[in-house]
Amino acid sequence: MWFTCATCKGDVEALQKRWKFIPHHACNEHERTDGDGNRHRCEHTPLTAREQKKRMWIEKDSVAFQDLSSLVLDKRPLKDLEKMALFKHTGPLEIFHSALLKYLPKRQAFSYDGMRERCYLAILEHNENIVKRKQATTMTGEPRFKQVYCKKSKQWILKTIFTPHTTEFIRHLINRVMDRRHDPNITFNVPTSSLTPPSQHCPCT
Ligand SMILES: [Zn+2]
Repeated sequence: MWFTCATCKGDVEALQKRWKFIPHHACNEHERTDGDGNRHRCEHTPLTAREQKKRMWIEKDSVAFQDLSSLVLDKRPLKDLEKMALFKHTGPLEIFHSALLKYLPKRQAFSYDGMRERCYLAILEHNENIVKRKQATTMTGEPRFKQVYCKKSKQWILKTIFTPHTTEFIRHLINRVMDRRHDPNITFNVPTSSLTPPSQHCPCT
């Protein structure tokens, strides 16, 4: 289900087509032509002979195959699947809530302006680290992965390594505030000469 939703790119028809092919995939049949002459094939990379041998497949025309087919082709989940075509996962939202708690701890009370501005900081941190986060690369520019042992499938899998978490936006923000403060064309009630540059460790970090 995960693979089907993640790879359909918002196309409901493609999602349902892949979903309906699951019983055949479970029988180690990754390509077939149906009665109407339409060709279907799995979107995953071809499985090696070793991979095919390692997995447990179900027999075609067995009770298991019939049961799986009736579950997969059930109209209700098929209809619900349409809502999953955009593949929106709650993970990033939970990460954002965690960033929000960092800037807006529940035990402290803030003014309306303070709440709003701290909320902006959480959004900036989220955008810097989640929305714009890139895959880490080696010195030669190769994308980095790590090997993780999957207990369920009993095999090693590759997981993407992302660039480290940063709060660079704070430095940019401070620089822009200071530049604005030193701009002779902008007047402030507090004289610029009374300002001292902020320390390296901002209280927000
Ligand atoms: Zn397959």
